[in-house]
Amino acid sequence: MPLQTKLFIDGEFVEAEDGSTITVLNPHDNSEITQVAQAQVADIDRAVAAAKRAFPAWRDMQAAERGRLLLRLADLVEDNAEELARIESLDTGHPIRDTTGLDVPRTAFTYRYFGGMADKVQGSVVPVEPGFLNYVTREPVGVVGQIIPWNFPLMFTSWKMGPALAAGNTVVIKPAQVTPLTALKIGELMAEAGFPPGVVNIVPASGRTAGQHLAEHPDVQKIAFTGSTSVGRKIVNYSAGNLKRVQLELGGKGANIVFDDAFLPGAINGSAFAIFHNQGQACIAGSRLLLHERIADEFLDGFLSLAGSIRLGNPLDPDTEMGPLTSTSQQKAVLSYCDITYQEGGEILIGGKRPDDPGLADGNYVEPTVVRAQPEDRVCQEEVFGPFVSVNTFSSDEEVIELANSTEYGLGGGLWSRDLSRAHKVAGAMRSGMVWVNCYKRVNPGSPFGGVGSSGYGREMGFEAMHEYTDAKSVWVNVDAQIPPYYPR
Ligand code: NAD
Repeated sequence: MPLQTKLFIDGEFVEAEDGSTITVLNPHDNSEITQVAQAQVADIDRAVAAAKRAFPAWRDMQAAERGRLLLRLADLVEDNAEELARIESLDTGHPIRDTTGLDVPRTAFTYRYFGGMADKVQGSVVPVEPGFLNYVTREPVGVVGQIIPWNFPLMFTSWKMGPALAAGNTVVIKPAQVTPLTALKIGELMAEAGFPPGVVNIVPASGRTAGQHLAEHPDVQKIAFTGSTSVGRKIVNYSAGNLKRVQLELGGKGANIVFDDAFLPGAINGSAFAIFHNQGQACIAGSRLLLHERIADEFLDGFLSLAGSIRLGNPLDPDTEMGPLTSTSQQKAVLSYCDITYQEGGEILIGGKRPDDPGLADGNYVEPTVVRAQPEDRVCQEEVFGPFVSVNTFSSDEEVIELANSTEYGLGGGLWSRDLSRAHKVAGAMRSGMVWVNCYKRVNPGSPFGGVGSSGYGREMGFEAMHEYTDAKSVWVNVDAQIPPYYPR
């Protein structure tokens, strides 16, 4: 499979100035896939300079023309679907059935959505005093720095770059070191689509050096970050130098509530998807199961038997339902939460270890894990970011609302109930940027995505995203230029 392995700067694939590289590993067996150029501070400077040069022409291009390029990119993503899916599976460990069925189509969908959006961002006219016209336009913010994590690297290129480019900004995007391959492939497709040089620059790099430099850069007007809450806090500090705009999509600890009137087969299936899809490496994972005590046993019978039957294996095998975690360090982190469960007096109901299959011994696999613990325990409060779900029970709506809102996070959460009135009431009471009723983890480029509390601020997707990537400009006109404006003297 041909892989792009160089930095994409100013429309060209180039080596890092000092020749640095990253070794990219296959999470299935930790064998080397390839070496990829690793951007350093000097390369970030080159990328930002290219984006700055490209900005005026891109901003002034007719919006429909920017949209046309994004639509072309969406087509190219579809034309290259098989290759993109294979690269993403190889690099991240997502099962090929998911990259083929979800990641790639959603990526194309998102680029297409924002391609269509480019010429639909309108300003407004404000009804002000007679004799004056006040209109408001939306202006791109300029050069945007974007930092993305390793859990959905392909899809996140579209979530981040789609709205930024549609709105007329130029971009320097930094994929995570461990998963740079599909983002670089997108650079190749952008060049093929005809994006002008410098409009997009793709620079895989370490967060601590190059990432920090990008977030601090005085020529970057906005930083959009997806990643952990701890790094998100640093980004806010880095942004202070030139008071750049900040958008933060951070961690989560999704409450997934099953009421006693839920349709249980659907709730069991949906709850398994909520936590085990992508090995639980999702900010919106339903990682806290809150079960009504009347159905808890019946639910758990079905849920544990489903969890125990999930087929783990090589992500490139179409039969695989769950692949390895993306890195050994993530595997270690998840297994450490199994130890913490025991230390805190909790119980592991299933999983809690690597699979016994010797064929998976060299990979970053962890079995689907379900634990019972106290709501205040670390495993019920901290983001594990793996196939690891805690279980608590409740007996009333008031109690479960309090439980659902008892962590510092507020990104996504779900509930399962056939009582519409209860569903709407509880959805309204959940302190969460997104709530799913009788489903989980639905996303669509038209629907705002983001959180509250330690899950960050700002919204991706939809019109909200276009506002995130534009500033309002208010223009006042004295319509009758013969009449001097009022001046008290
Ligand atoms: P991370 O915070 O370690 O890294 C995210 C990105 O930031 C990477 O590109 C990394 O290189 C970079 N980075 C690291 N340190 C940096 C620094 N000091 N300065 C600048 N950049 C730096 O997170 P991760 O482990 O890659 O991803 C998992 C986290 O991402 C989880 O907490 C997850 O919940 C979160 N996430 C959030 C969303 C959302 O939309 N809210 C979506 C996916 C993942």
